[in-house]
This record gives sequence, structure tokens and C-alpha cells, in this order.
Amino acid sequence: MALVTTKEMFKKAYEGGYAIGAFNYDDNDIMHGIVEGAARVDSPVMIAVSEGALKYMQMEFVVHAAKAAAEKWDIPIALHLDHGKDMATLKACVDRGFTSVMIDASAYEFEKNIELTKELVSYAHDRGVVVESELGAIAGIEDEVVVEDKYGAFTHPDEAAEFVARTGIDSLAIAIGTAHGAYKFKPGQKPQLRFDILDEIQGLIPGFPLVLHGASSVPQDRLATFNEYGGQLQQAIGIPPEMLREAAKKAVCKINVGTDIRVCYFGEIRKAMALNPTKFDGRTFLQPARNAVADMVAERITNVFGSNGKK
Ligand SMILES: [Zn+2]
Repeated sequence: MALVTTKEMFKKAYEGGYAIGAFNYDDNDIMHGIVEGAARVDSPVMIAVSEGALKYMQMEFVVHAAKAAAEKWDIPIALHLDHGKDMATLKACVDRGFTSVMIDASAYEFEKNIELTKELVSYAHDRGVVVESELGAIAGIEDEVVVEDKYGAFTHPDEAAEFVARTGIDSLAIAIGTAHGAYKFKPGQKPQLRFDILDEIQGLIPGFPLVLHGASSVPQDRLATFNEYGGQLQQAIGIPPEMLREAAKKAVCKINVGTDIRVCYFGEIRKAMALNPTKFDGRTFLQPARNAVADMVAERITNVFGSNGKK
């Protein structure tokens, strides 16, 4: 089939109490692994590129490869731009065949964020493309959280409701305690998702799809493989799968995974290269890495997101 938007998949996910995985890639081989994994368990999937990944892979290759994947596999696939900050790039993605775009104007103050998001929504909706936007600061590991009130730096529910109503967006990324990057939380630190805030937001805008960013779980076995073969990633823990499952039962319809894909893919490449020092055929290194991505995506979909069998 052709690439699809997220409208239908989010509606079903909301009603069914599960979430769609949005997996980031910056190489088409990784994308192969992602869609193979999703197809294996009959799940809809979002394949996502950042602005940096788009620049690296180049528009034509991203769009045509995604369309080829949608033709080959009998599952709904949405091609998504993650964290679009440049309006020209966002509009180019809409024009060239992306079915979903995320505008990240969250660094601006509220009114400016609304203004920029609205501009993109009107452009994208005219062309049949859906829009995600972000409100509130999703922490990076270096960020210091300034606590002002009980919501702290997290998304304020009343602002979320107003933002959705005024912009006409299709989904909203909220900040409730997830963090971008590999070093989300140090060992010993306890990751907490603010389900109270999630519930409040859901109560104000029932039926509206919410999104979690920075939701990798940093599987310890994948991290171990990466480091066993020369990697030097620090010990880190991500968001516990049971918390993601809980969020997926509520209004969270999309969960982003970036870090886990990288640790998995490049851990396997490190391993294959270390174990095959006399080989120089790329497939020796890339095939096991692609397979590992497919395994991880299928596992995550089945055990955490719950979208298996929902194609
Ligand atoms: Zn993000």
C-alpha cells in the first residue's frame, strides 16, 4: 500500500489502549530492520527521521525508500519528520511525500509556539499531512529542571488544552518525565512518569492523541553487547517498560524510540566486526545488525506498545 498518515492508527490505538512505536533511523538499512520487525508482528509503524538524518540521507532517498517499504510490507507505515525546527524543511517534507511532520517550536514562548504551529498546520492539512507539536520541556540529561509549581517544567494541562484547541494539531508531545538521549537516568535514580499530569491532560482533551518522546528503555543486554566489543557507553537506565505500557493504556498513542535502535544496531556491528576480523564484506556486519533491530522492534511492539496484530 501507499504510506499513510497517523489518523487511523492513532484513533484505533486510543480506543484499543495501545501505542504506535515511532522508531528513528539515520540509515536505510536501519529502516529495513524497523519495518521488518513491525511486519513480523502485523503492527502499524511510524518511521521517523530527524532534520539531521534527513540532511544526511537526503530527501529523495528517504521518501523513495519509505514508499518502497510501504509497497513491500502489508502494514500501515507513516513517514514522519521528528523535531522539525526549520519551517522550510517542514514544508518541503509535506510537499515531497512525508505523511506526518512534527514541528518543534517548544523553545519559543507559548504564543509564538502557537503561531508557528498554526502556520504549519494550515499548510500541512491542505495537503493531507498530519502535524504533531510539542509543549513543555522534555529534558535532556544535562538540563536542570526548575520547579516552579506542582507541574514544574512539565506540560501544564490547561495550556495543553488551549494549545490543541487553538492550533488544530493532530497530536501533542507532552513532557511528563521522559528524557532524550542515552543517559536518561543514572543507576540508582528512579525514573518517574507523572501519570497525574497525563490524567489531567487526558481529562481536559478526551480522545486526543498524546505523544511521549525520549522514551527509550535502554535494554541492559544491548548496552552490554555494545560495551563488550569496545564501546564505552556509560551505564544508564531508561524508562521502565511497565511505565510505557501504563501510558499506552491511557491517551498516549505514539512512543518515540531513538536511542535503543542505535545502541542495538551499532552494538551488533561492533560485535560482528570484532568476531570477523578477516572479513570485509559489508553484509557480514550489517545483516546481523539489521536482524537485531527487527528483533528489538518486534519485541518492543509486542511486549510494551501492544500494537501487534493491529495492522
Ligand atoms: Zn523527541
